Amino acid sequence: MADGGIVATKPYVSSGSYINKMSNYCKGCHYKVSKKNAEDNACPFNSLYWNFLDEKKDHFKGNHRMAMMMNLLKKMDAEKLEAHKSRANDVIANPYNY
Ligand code: SF4
Repeated sequence: MADGGIVATKPYVSSGSYINKMSNYCKGCHYKVSKKNAEDNACPFNSLYWNFLDEKKDHFKGNHRMAMMMNLLKKMDAEKLEAHKSRANDVIANPYNY
């Protein structure tokens, strides 16, 4: 177990922004970590992140440590969320294309 068996109150998942903050991987990457849309060659982790939160939103209800992100998810424009979900599902179905 990578987490040493710790029961965490917050999932250890991240968008591209957090990966960029915590590493230097994004500097030479083909994808653009600051972009949000597939047409702009956005980092796929951004879409994967929002898709994950949306799929698990019932699970995170009442989790205070997730409240800020769940609020952002709730306020997200429906079309934008759908675009994230569509791209995330494409990444999941076709990981070797990314
Ligand atoms: S895919 Fe590229 S831009 Fe996105 S987190 Fe990974 S290194 Fe950074």
